[in-house]
Amino acid sequence: MSAAQPLPTADGEKDSLWQRELRQQFPLVAGHPELAYLDSAATSQKPRAVLEAVQTYLTTSNANAGRGTYPWANRTTELVESTRERVKEFLHDPEPGRSGVHFTSGTTEGLRTVARDWLVPYLGDGDEILVPFADHRAHLEPWLEAQRLLAGRGIDVQVRALPYQTVSGDYDHRALGEVVGPRTRFVAATHVHHVYGGDMNVHRIRAVVGPDVPICLDAAQSVGHLPVRLDDPALDVDFVVFSGHKAMALPGTGAVWARNTRGPAFRPDGWQGTPNTVGIVSLRAALDWLDAAGPDRIARWTAGLTTRLTDRLRHIGPYELLGCPASLAADSALAASQRRHGIVTFRHRDIPSDDLGFILFSHGFMVRADSLCQAGADPREGSVRVSLHVYNTVEEIDRLLTVLASLA
Ligand code: PLP
Repeated sequence: MSAAQPLPTADGEKDSLWQRELRQQFPLVAGHPELAYLDSAATSQKPRAVLEAVQTYLTTSNANAGRGTYPWANRTTELVESTRERVKEFLHDPEPGRSGVHFTSGTTEGLRTVARDWLVPYLGDGDEILVPFADHRAHLEPWLEAQRLLAGRGIDVQVRALPYQTVSGDYDHRALGEVVGPRTRFVAATHVHHVYGGDMNVHRIRAVVGPDVPICLDAAQSVGHLPVRLDDPALDVDFVVFSGHKAMALPGTGAVWARNTRGPAFRPDGWQGTPNTVGIVSLRAALDWLDAAGPDRIARWTAGLTTRLTDRLRHIGPYELLGCPASLAADSALAASQRRHGIVTFRHRDIPSDDLGFILFSHGFMVRADSLCQAGADPREGSVRVSLHVYNTVEEIDRLLTVLASLA
């Protein structure tokens, strides 16, 4: 079976040639055909264009940003500032004159900055906020910290849990109506779930909470994986927080985009210090690379691989898929809003997940096998997560399925 095996889609043949060309641009992936990197939800591999942009910057104009007045410093300042605009453009920001972009080390720091510097001053005594208790821990702790900080100042804020549907892992939008009230002042939600891979349908949250409540979106698993378009009325959120390193940029990069139309404008407090200039350079190159590749096409490729893996795995006896039991492939009426995005998480009935992780690595598959940083998850009850990106191939999925079936 060749690595260029097409997916059975309308554009299967064309897409597989396109994908093969893209895969060659990832030196670490292309250099190790005996291995399969299936852990892109943790961090993505980096295309050569990103590595070269970093090297070019460091060997032609490395300096600090916003300080010196000589050419290297000016060039660095210009790179940092123009990358803010590039982030807005990448996200199809409909009002770039009004919004802001703040660079962080990743989603964790971004969410914490929103909580500490924007949410804390915004909330008052008796206000309520809605947050996810079964998403990534990075998307729970900052809101609880904000509540504690306010309590220390004598301001009592209620933290309510976003309800979930137990089988699919989606938010339960019907039950949501019961927890939203007149004092609901803020919602924290996730775009794509890091365990279940499902689109969490934030437009349904907006429909329930109404037009005035700010929503902060954890987009760690969507930016770089699928089109994230803020000009789409279905994505009427106020903050988009993401990790650059999961979107082809270097580790230690991320950003907060703030719409700045509901509540006060987002301005992180205090002295910001030297930015991660190299990371920001890499982020810019990564966004250029992603736009050139086409977020739509990337999403179509990974959705195809996800469908193939999910729909076959659920027929192999001892495996239990977490989240949506099926991939809700293209012919499903729900496909557009609920398809899994490049993440498939499962357990084997008899083999503990950490053992399964080791077994899979002995066959060359690099997967995540633990409790996946999920808030509230029992660390003893791990699972195995396969997470995909555009460099992954049909052949890798089929090889994985063969090994998984042999363990049945
Ligand atoms: N939120 C989600 C949904 C994630 O998947 C992750 C990382 O896996 C994070 C937040 C934290 O991202 P980072 O480690 O880049 O801060």
